[in-house]
Amino acid sequence: MKVTVISYSLTGNNEALAASVALFSAQHIRITESKPRTMGIKILNRISESNSNNCPHLLNIKMKGRDRTFWLTTSKNNTPVASWLDYDFFTEEQKPVKCLTVILRTVGCRWRKCTMCGYWHESADVTQADILAQLERAFRNSPDEDFILKIFTSGSFLDEREIASDTRKEIAKMVKKRKIKKLIVETRPEFVSAEKIADLEVVEHLELAIGLETADDFIRTKYINKGFSFEDYKTAAKIVNESGATVKTYLLLKPPFVSEKKAIEDVIKSAALVSPYSSTISLNLCNVQKYTPLEDLWRKRYYRPPWLWSAVEAIKKMKKQDVAVLSDPVGAGHKRGPHNCGKCDTRVTEAIKKFNGTQDLSVLERLEDCECKETWHAMLNFDVFLFGASLF
Ligand code: SF4
Ligand SMILES: [Zn+2]
Repeated sequence: MKVTVISYSLTGNNEALAASVALFSAQHIRITESKPRTMGIKILNRISESNSNNCPHLLNIKMKGRDRTFWLTTSKNNTPVASWLDYDFFTEEQKPVKCLTVILRTVGCRWRKCTMCGYWHESADVTQADILAQLERAFRNSPDEDFILKIFTSGSFLDEREIASDTRKEIAKMVKKRKIKKLIVETRPEFVSAEKIADLEVVEHLELAIGLETADDFIRTKYINKGFSFEDYKTAAKIVNESGATVKTYLLLKPPFVSEKKAIEDVIKSAALVSPYSSTISLNLCNVQKYTPLEDLWRKRYYRPPWLWSAVEAIKKMKKQDVAVLSDPVGAGHKRGPHNCGKCDTRVTEAIKKFNGTQDLSVLERLEDCECKETWHAMLNFDVFLFGASLF
């Protein structure tokens, strides 16, 4: 029997390797991916003891005090791209709540032209039944208490080509049966309609996340190639708000061709313009994804991901608006992700994550400086002469 082990954890491969070893030893299954290593053997016993699941396709383990789930399958179509449990800030009660995030594998985003986005590489030729099977599997990892459910598709949940109308209604039924406080889905604005929102109003709080990236039409059109206007976003946001749901707006810190200083100014200005429509702003720190136009720019040294100091500065100013500001620094500290000098990256990332859960700005205000902050400051001061060139 051929088995593929897919790790859903952010820390990834080592745990997948450990799971491979456990299965290999306990059930004599031939592993086709991930080679066992010594590290895996060390925790083999712990995994065998803690796997209480009877499903041959699912391995539940507790590692470093956190629940991890591995899907074992012969086909990737009925497994989600990823699924994990963590905490998210629950805006309505102003506190962190357990959150199950599920990234469904669909046919992918219809647009596929944004310069920084490589999500559509996760798409596959899946059926609607596959999509329901993916969600059902992910639900096996639901927490016992009330939780927030985020269903992402690396595209638009409301695009009927990705999630057909009947599937959407079926998902709503599945959601209704569980202890879900809030459901969050992502969509491009052109797919928003009152009827589709009504189908999903099975939970107390429904939130639609829209990737506006910036309120500046020039940056969004010319540099990001997003394919919709600020006006389109406002029209969609009004429909969402009038339907009784809320809007989460994604803003992108440092799109291509925008200097560090202009990027900070852009998200602060955008936050002011979107806050009347949004209950939450998610500040997404641009990272360099594979096989994207942005990757080409980055390889030619025409692009450097944002400094983490820029994120801190932007969050402090954006928070002046009456909205929750969240930021998950994906890939922080890596050369493709937002980073500082290397010495202070972990500390600054941790402070941003702590701020997410509390919305307490003092976490960021108390943040100790690092010598690299001087360089970052100098770069902002000389922005007009540097024309976006990076010092390092
Ligand atoms: S950023 Fe969103 S809209 Fe743009 S290509 Fe990616 S998934 Fe599609
Ligand atoms: Zn530093």
